[in-house]
Amino acid sequence: MTTFADLGLSQKVLSAVADAGYTNPTPIQAGAIPYALQRRDICGIAQTGTGKTASFVLPMLTLLEKGRARARMPRTLILEPTRELAAQVAENFDKYGKNHKLNVALLIGGVSFEDQDRKLERGADVLIATPGRLLDHCERGKLLMTGVEILVIDEADRMLDMGFIPDIERIAKMIPFTRQTLFFSATMPPEIQKLADRFLQNPERVEVAKPSSTAKTVTQRLVASHSKDYEKRAVLRDLITTQDNLKNAIIFCNRKKDVSELFRSLERHGFSVGALHGDMDQRSRMTMLANFKDGNIKLLVASDVAARGLDIPDVSHVFNFDVPIHSEDYVHRIGRTGRAGRSGRAFTIVTRADTKYMDAIEKLISEKIEWQSGDLSALPAPMESHDNERGRRGRDRDKERGRGKRGDSGHRADTKKQDNQIEATEGFEESKVENVRPERKADRKPQNNGGNRNTRPSPANDDNRDRRRHRDHDDGPTPVGFGDDIPAFMLIVANAKA
Ligand code: AMP
Repeated sequence: MTTFADLGLSQKVLSAVADAGYTNPTPIQAGAIPYALQRRDICGIAQTGTGKTASFVLPMLTLLEKGRARARMPRTLILEPTRELAAQVAENFDKYGKNHKLNVALLIGGVSFEDQDRKLERGADVLIATPGRLLDHCERGKLLMTGVEILVIDEADRMLDMGFIPDIERIAKMIPFTRQTLFFSATMPPEIQKLADRFLQNPERVEVAKPSSTAKTVTQRLVASHSKDYEKRAVLRDLITTQDNLKNAIIFCNRKKDVSELFRSLERHGFSVGALHGDMDQRSRMTMLANFKDGNIKLLVASDVAARGLDIPDVSHVFNFDVPIHSEDYVHRIGRTGRAGRSGRAFTIVTRADTKYMDAIEKLISEKIEWQSGDLSALPAPMESHDNERGRRGRDRDKERGRGKRGDSGHRADTKKQDNQIEATEGFEESKVENVRPERKADRKPQNNGGNRNTRPSPANDDNRDRRRHRDHDDGPTPVGFGDDIPAFMLIVANAKA
């Protein structure tokens, strides 16, 4: 079996790798490092979690041992699609470069230009950047790219999805043609291949796992739901609270707006939850991630962009609140669990509208995913329409006030049936109420970044009736206008004069 010493890395690097506790290189490391050290261009096809970062950081450290950085002229440049990934790569340089005295500058949005300028002024051996912020610095005339010897384009498929390719082309034009380019992507569809052909010269192709494969250690299940967001939220809550061994989970939404909405909903329902989306400032994102890694937050609601490539070891569950539109995202999402041979569980909430996306996913992974308890055809009758819901709420309130308008028992039975139906779909079946009822806001301690509450909402003292009366708007459609309580004076027909 190949050892790190076989790869041609320097002593300083080998010693840091040994300190990190790694015994053998991963396949992408064994494949890419020798070529990188020969200054060859590389087209690496590997997902995060395969040791991909070290496969370019370790040879870069070795190569950087010769030579010195000059002010405002970085020697190497690593482009990353998100701030988190950029920060994670910087952490890798701290870890593996602990025996080197290299200047590493991180140019990401959400951090002041002044601090970044100071680092550049000192001369950066390694510049790790997101494309937009890098171009901002170039336009301010603070950065010269003519000294860059190694360019790393990481997560190329994600760069394409995020519309960064024109930026990368602009950046690549500023860097001498004689550079070495290391190009990594989790998938290699034709448009990525075309890009690779443009950026690379006679590259060595290193491919590790099939990009469309999912880990055998992940148990995947589909969960049928009606399509309204509040119905999906109820299904999700039910899933979370019925898991026996949920240590922590990432919940994926397709849009960042939905990330915020779902986060607020879960928080209101008393779950220990945080959120990660593109609109958060850098500090909050880092704090959130640290809280999740440390176990202070059990659930993390995230978008694909925000979560891409995050190295969070040992996530027990992944929930897809939305079926991903790009099937590759499914592979990335569920790759957050079942890492390093551990077992993981991945649940995907599927509505009728998602069928074609689910078909594409199953085709990509060449696998049929089992339904958790019945497919879409087994779903109970759809939830009440908005109008019926308004009626029900009105009747609920009437009942609670002890002045039910409908006297006949048939109607009462109907109403009761409807109540049970809505309770069940909200994840609050009567038998479970004691266990899963959320805390009241007033009972909660002040929280920071999503808080330290338990995954399972704790019992509260309010009785059912109280809960129903205070049901937050997340539990179903909100009555429009006065609902059933239209004041009598508004029903008087006015005599309008012509
Ligand atoms: P990456 O694919 O770069 O996100 O790395 C995934 C995880 O694998 C990180 O936690 C690394 O610290 C870890 N790792 C990288 N190389 C090795 C190795 N040779 N042996 C064991 N773990 C590794």
